[in-house]
Amino acid sequence: MYNNCAVCGQDLQIEVGFYYGAMYVSYALTIAIIVSLLTALYVFDIFAIELFLITDVLVLIATLPYVFKVSRAIWIAIMIKYDPKA
Ligand SMILES: [Zn+2]
Repeated sequence: MYNNCAVCGQDLQIEVGFYYGAMYVSYALTIAIIVSLLTALYVFDIFAIELFLITDVLVLIATLPYVFKVSRAIWIAIMIKYDPKA
């Protein structure tokens, strides 16, 4: 994570523990991925609990770095208001 935004200079290390809230965003994104996978398995009529658990673990490991960064970006977008004059 950078210390400041490269474009506007916004401090990205706001305070200790600021990004704890991103865990809630990450949780929501993870649940969305799991529900999407479950829905896909049902739609293609190939649902089996073993298949679901294995593909679920693989998909979540594969998307972990992306979900981690996106959840932090969403969290800071929620908490910090954009100021075009800054
Ligand atoms: Zn910026």
